[in-house]
Amino acid sequence: MTASTPRVAIVGTGVIGAMAAWQLAGRGARVLAFDAYGRGHDRGASAGESRIFRTVYKEGASYVPLLLEARELWRTLEAESGRALLTLCGGLTIGAPDEPDLKAVRHCAEEAGLPHEILDREQTAARFPQHRLDEGEIALHDPGAGVLRPEPSVQSALEAAERHGARILSYRPVDDLTETAHGWRIASGEETWDVDHVVLTPGPWAARLAPLAGLPVRAKRITACWFAAREVAAHQPDRLPIAIRRHPEAGFSCFPVLDGVAVKIVPHHLGWPDIEGPDDLPRGADPAFARAASAAVGRLLPGLVPDPVRIGTYAEGFTPDGHPVVGPLPGAARATVLTGFSGHGFKLAPVFGRIAADLVLTGGTGHDLSGLSPHRFAHR
Ligand SMILES: Cc1cc2nc3c(=O)[nH]c(=O)nc-3n(C[C@H](O)[C@H](O)[C@H](O)COP(=O)(O)OP(=O)(O)OC[C@H]3O[C@@H](n4cnc5c(N)ncnc54)[C@H](O)[C@@H]3O)c2cc1C
Repeated sequence: MTASTPRVAIVGTGVIGAMAAWQLAGRGARVLAFDAYGRGHDRGASAGESRIFRTVYKEGASYVPLLLEARELWRTLEAESGRALLTLCGGLTIGAPDEPDLKAVRHCAEEAGLPHEILDREQTAARFPQHRLDEGEIALHDPGAGVLRPEPSVQSALEAAERHGARILSYRPVDDLTETAHGWRIASGEETWDVDHVVLTPGPWAARLAPLAGLPVRAKRITACWFAAREVAAHQPDRLPIAIRRHPEAGFSCFPVLDGVAVKIVPHHLGWPDIEGPDDLPRGADPAFARAASAAVGRLLPGLVPDPVRIGTYAEGFTPDGHPVVGPLPGAARATVLTGFSGHGFKLAPVFGRIAADLVLTGGTGHDLSGLSPHRFAHR
């Protein structure tokens, strides 16, 4: 082994670990990537048919450079894999003009100089009749938004990593990580591997991975519901943008039909309950939740049959401030952590994969990550 070809273990091949594997292997690292489950599995945060991509970002204009770089990398991965992963169908944020998310996206669009349009209720009804707005509500249209396909994205990044020599070890839960004089020893069952550096990307399992036990990343359950479209053509990506619908009684994210049948809704206003851990994720539908989601759809999306045809539950890791934890692990050498993406990490995954490679291979990155540093929680 030479200094220019470090051996790097990645723990977790959800979208963040998969992108880190792609970027690290592409830059010459010898990558071993472990996952307790298989590629694109549905127990963690990186499955469920669709994810929103947005550039006008309510989480803050500081993310815009990352989002623009991520968009380029999504196109690179599409070219390398030959798969369509990102469809730029545009995006809507809908709600009352003084609603915090509406104010935040307007502020971001103006601060970052991003193209956008403000549509009043009548203009929205004319262009996007799939949505019903209340009196006084508006929509901000972001032409740079779109929809991502999670499972083929993970698969594509891992295959690209393999083409650069990475070994992807599915169904290999990492049971133990020990710091050694020169790096780390990884244990899974009876087997061990010695590596120079570890990249910890366990998503909502963070609290169960010993070196990360001090980080305040809580596992939560997010439930998605699919509702059949009465007229499928009107709800496909060429006519229905992704949407974030803010509403005091019925907020949700909304995704166009990708399966030929149904629009996906992720209700927001009911909250996302804590779970013990993703291995114990309840998979069943809570009837009260399904009724509330149906009521929201019946009220705000008149073109859908308001009973879900499918319900899926997923796990995600959340931090107290809603921003991910990205950077060198405090108190350990040669360990980089990327976790706690708090419901908005998918779209950014390729750029965080590149940042992981920067941190491992050069010890730094050109991005200002001070707001995401693990050190912000070090006092807890
Ligand atoms: C329902 C839902 C909707 C979302 N919507 C959006 C959206 O529209 N747009 C957006 O940008 N983001 C969205 N997000 C957030 C985004 O999907 C996540 O931030 C992102 O997928 C996090 O990926 P991850 O790799 O950190 O976690 P995961 O995908 O959960 O991957 C972690 C992996 O680590 C593995 N692992 C953990 N511990 C070990 C161990 N000890 N040994 C081996 N393997 C281990 C797990 O098996 C898992 O595969 C959404 C999330 C959910 C759940």
